[in-house]
Amino acid sequence: MDSLALWLALILAAGLGPLKPRPSAAPGSQGTAPVTGPFTAGELKAFAALEPIDTHTHAFVSDPAFLALLHRLHMHILDICVIDDHSPFERSLEPQLDEALAVVHASQGHAALCTTFDPYRFQEPGFAEAAIRQINRDFENGAVAVKVWKNVGMELKNTKGAYVMPDDPLFQPIYRDIAAHHKTLIAHVADPDTIWQPPDPRAPDYSYYMEHPEWYMFRNPHPPSKQAILKARDHLLEMNPDLRVVGAHLGSMEADFSAIARHLDRYPNFCVDLAARMPYVIRQPRAELVAFMTKYQDRLLYATDLGFHPGEDASRVIKEWETTYARDWRFFATSDLLDYEGRRVQGIHLPPSILRKLYHQNALRSIPGILPATPAP
Ligand SMILES: [Zn+2]
Repeated sequence: MDSLALWLALILAAGLGPLKPRPSAAPGSQGTAPVTGPFTAGELKAFAALEPIDTHTHAFVSDPAFLALLHRLHMHILDICVIDDHSPFERSLEPQLDEALAVVHASQGHAALCTTFDPYRFQEPGFAEAAIRQINRDFENGAVAVKVWKNVGMELKNTKGAYVMPDDPLFQPIYRDIAAHHKTLIAHVADPDTIWQPPDPRAPDYSYYMEHPEWYMFRNPHPPSKQAILKARDHLLEMNPDLRVVGAHLGSMEADFSAIARHLDRYPNFCVDLAARMPYVIRQPRAELVAFMTKYQDRLLYATDLGFHPGEDASRVIKEWETTYARDWRFFATSDLLDYEGRRVQGIHLPPSILRKLYHQNALRSIPGILPATPAP
């Protein structure tokens, strides 16, 4: 963390220390009341001017009001498919691929597709060849990235009862194919540390593992070790230096930003998204977080993990998406006092040049094709 400490010192010297809340932040709010709710007109203008990109979403309903929200916010999303045998909708690639493609086509340039492959078939003869055929077909249909998910590492076991890891040679031809097509691998491997720990209602992920006991490794009698999964991920990075890899959810190193820093230093083909890990981001000491985001300003991707699944109420979903975008933007772009899931935090007021990288430029470089060649209307 030595170089990070140096950055911290430089930033403090540059006068980016603790900032006072902007007085006119929330019309009608009294004094230090936190700013909440959707964008004000002025905020929306600043946000939309970034042409923001959310590199981690799961949208499978092409609802006109939802698409209108993307247009109004100038928001561009990466729409990610995963195959999850615990979820009726996600048990197979179809129908979610069809629904995601419908969103992409109806979005007029505001959504791009991230496909996946079915890892549950890993023991079938010709597994990799079939996966590559399907992925290449999806590339032809506009997919710009491929997701590998946490079922690799935490669920699939081979005939000897060992967990199948993301660096298993079985997957190597698939990774090579993605690199050969100049596409990007979105790697959600492992999960937060708390999944391996006794239940703690104060942990940011507590409700997730209560709702998804199948992923709660603490209750798994023979869990894989998180360290082993991340080691396999690192091996994947080493074996595929030409493959761009986005480590979803802070690369599952959410509790140790110095580990994220070491990985970004070590693997030039690696960057991380912030999806669903804002509760960890806001818990960092403010000046240290500013130093981290300044030093790694070229390697961090804004992302949420927001979803829109068939059967969900469109107006509730639209409200959730907009308030999430507004809250996150206020945290990064302003020095407002915010209420973040019951915590009072102050925005870190990043300079416009870093915001533009976080919200736009880094995504263009890490996931080429995420925006259409001609600007969206
Ligand atoms: Zn996700």
